[in-house]
Amino acid sequence: MGGSRQFLNDDKVRSRNSRAILGQSLLDFLDVDMDKFIKSFAQLSEQLSELHELPVGQDIPHFEVELHKFGQEHIFFQFVRLDWLERLDAYKRQNENWRELLRPKEFSQIPQRVITLQNQVRRLIEGALDIALRKTRENFTTLSRVKSYYNGTESGKFDFGQITTEFSCQAGLFGDVLVPRKLEDILSYLLREFIKREQHFKTCLHCGKYFVPDHGNAEYCNRVVANSKKTCRDIGATKNYREKMRLTIIGRRVMISERSLLDIFSFFCRLLIKNIGWRYCHVKESKKFR
Ligand SMILES: [Zn+2]
Repeated sequence: MGGSRQFLNDDKVRSRNSRAILGQSLLDFLDVDMDKFIKSFAQLSEQLSELHELPVGQDIPHFEVELHKFGQEHIFFQFVRLDWLERLDAYKRQNENWRELLRPKEFSQIPQRVITLQNQVRRLIEGALDIALRKTRENFTTLSRVKSYYNGTESGKFDFGQITTEFSCQAGLFGDVLVPRKLEDILSYLLREFIKREQHFKTCLHCGKYFVPDHGNAEYCNRVVANSKKTCRDIGATKNYREKMRLTIIGRRVMISERSLLDIFSFFCRLLIKNIGWRYCHVKESKKFR
């Protein structure tokens, strides 16, 4: 924004699957616990208020440090960090509208605003983007489910609003580039892409959280399980293997009687073939020596 756009890469999401990247960043955003930031944002907001009262040239201790911590929490928050650092720069440069840019109340409301957005996106996923909702022909496409969700009467829906994009070259890539003015723009852009590409979310059979399946049969997500080095997918693979083994064992037990008959039959068949083969060879060998 304001000519200081930054190109950000989400290092936490590394995958060759672009739709997994697209969806996982969004899902990780929903998992961020914002309660832990409420106190620090309130304290910094008080310092911002003092800044409005004090003579020009004052500094806000820990402002950049706290913003850095917040930015480390999720790739989307890097935008918030850069945005507010730019506002602080306006104060330092004594830009004429710095008071308008550096509003303490707006800053203190950031955690609550994020919680509201998390809830809105969660409701959109639960109400339209969950593959489990794909039950009838009418709601088979993601777009049709989104349409019926927005036609519904429930309150607190995510507002897609207006976003600004440009078609240009960034970091060696050429394509649509989002020019966000606020955090909502990033969410809006991602969700639009998700709906346009007819993507959907699935519930992980292990942790119960949403994930983006990289193939139709995927049942487990790639999140690392707490106090473990394994992902839900690793645990799911082991579980599936055990179930298959159990099924095989159960199958063998059930088929014991049939299998024993089959075993007897196959034993005699093998004996017969062996015998015929031996005789054939024997006859062949005998003829040779005659
Ligand atoms: Zn999982």
